[in-house]
Amino acid sequence: MGGRSARIAVKSIGEEIQMGNWLICPLCGRKTKIRILPEMVLLHFPLYCSRCKKEVVISVVGNKLKIETPEA
Ligand SMILES: [Zn+2]
Repeated sequence: MGGRSARIAVKSIGEEIQMGNWLICPLCGRKTKIRILPEMVLLHFPLYCSRCKKEVVISVVGNKLKIETPEA
């Protein structure tokens, strides 16, 4: 289903995230208050970013961040 450009500027899709560090908001690229642990798996997690005040549903599997809902 890939190939099309996203509606928003997302730079973290499919990129490896740094386990053990704070999760980076895929919308604004800043650190959130969610910490990713090694081998942690998130499925359809509602990540709320206090910086851009938006919520985005993400999944983190195998060190990869995936956005389930690009924008509300
Ligand atoms: Zn944000």
